[in-house]
Amino acid sequence: MISVFGSANMDLVAYVSEAPKRGETVTGHHFRTIPGGKGANQAIAAARAGARVAFLGAAGDDAFGAEMRATLAEAGVDVRGLRQVPGPSGIAHIVVDDAGGNSIVVVPGANGTVTGPSADDLAVIAASQALLLQLELPLEAVVEAARGARAAGVPVFLTPAPARPLPEELLDAVTTIVPNEHEAAAITGVAGVDAALDALLERVEEAVITLGSQGALFGSRSGERLRVPSVPVKAVDTTAAGDTFVGALAVARSEGRAMADALTFASAAAALSVQREGASTSMPAREEIDRQVS
Ligand code: ADP
Repeated sequence: MISVFGSANMDLVAYVSEAPKRGETVTGHHFRTIPGGKGANQAIAAARAGARVAFLGAAGDDAFGAEMRATLAEAGVDVRGLRQVPGPSGIAHIVVDDAGGNSIVVVPGANGTVTGPSADDLAVIAASQALLLQLELPLEAVVEAARGARAAGVPVFLTPAPARPLPEELLDAVTTIVPNEHEAAAITGVAGVDAALDALLERVEEAVITLGSQGALFGSRSGERLRVPSVPVKAVDTTAAGDTFVGALAVARSEGRAMADALTFASAAAALSVQREGASTSMPAREEIDRQVS
């Protein structure tokens, strides 16, 4: 089993020709509500990639909360650890213009009420083969979950997004950090992927820097280095490519696969996801990933 302690947001996406300026009103072409949040996305990615998954987090007592719960459950995710709290669910208010540019306002809502893993959460984490973390919950809560996992000998995968300075107490409990290129540069303050990887490995045991269509670069403190190319595909929507990648990576590692195989599996899953629109809607099933790999 894989546990994900993280955010659930409803993405409210308005598609417009040009984004409104301050004080301006524009008419959009269409609007979609899409369940998202990095935590929920990674949970769905891992479940679709073939693992039993438990999601630990919070949603509000509004209609968005009910919809997010239903979406996770439909994907086969165990939602007993998704607490319902009074007040609104987390939302991301997104405006996408015709040139593909976007502007986003995130209101954490229920996610912001998570002060730490509960005793039940810690029991679920301790019984898992891996814990997936991101930075969309309050940092103290993320640190506590990471420490709980580390104390139980459970590997911790951290997606450091949104990028921010990371305390040593968090990185000490992380097994594998998985930033994209921009996050790696922001965290380390170092330009160049190889140098950023070296800087990350001074603080974490293992790191994977994802490089979009350029693939991914893995390194470990023991000196191992692997470069995995991406699968050449026509990308139509790269939303949640990184979440799909890390979900699949954790699944393969929890099945005991070697890192090189796990990275190939994760790249295949992410390449399938970028060929389809949306986040949770784009994540491939296990059979598709296996077919892509073979
Ligand atoms: P994020 O979505 O977090 O910004 P990346 O853009 O680095 O992360 O993408 C994560 C992974 O998704 C990459 O390592 C790669 O395997 C896959 N991927 C992303 N974009 C493409 C693409 N255009 N073609 C094929 N694979 C891609």
